[in-house]
Amino acid sequence: MKFQLVVNEEHASDAYGIFQNETDISIQRRKGRVYFTFEKGSPSKEAVSKSIILFPELEMAQVSGNSRKKVPLTLPESLVGLMNCPNPLCVTSQPKEPAVPELRVLRVSPLLLRCEYCGRYVPRESLSPSLMEVTKFIPQSKKIQTKV
Ligand SMILES: [Zn+2]
Repeated sequence: MKFQLVVNEEHASDAYGIFQNETDISIQRRKGRVYFTFEKGSPSKEAVSKSIILFPELEMAQVSGNSRKKVPLTLPESLVGLMNCPNPLCVTSQPKEPAVPELRVLRVSPLLLRCEYCGRYVPRESLSPSLMEVTKFIPQSKKIQTKV
């Protein structure tokens, strides 16, 4: 059983970025579509969620021999630390605030998220691959202090 993820040609380079840490992927291009086949097991849940968020045409399937079965696109109820809030004024967008971005999934298709901090509604149009890089650094000492 192999896991397959299909995007349009225009999203191929963004998809490479998301899957760069995954192993054993074979890639085929066919009729404007790019097929990422994970030869051993599934990609990480994070990579799957990011793909669902970014690529409206995404198709997922399980492939075994000649049979190919589509997999429904589902997201967890809440995306914690997966992506940044697009609102530059949001507390989670401030580099020195130790707040981990958290977006609630209101709807998968068409995609609609809502930031738990600033309340902004986030449709797919306001998303970009760069928002998927959560680089927030939470100092270890801060974590310990809040627990004591
Ligand atoms: Zn926000």
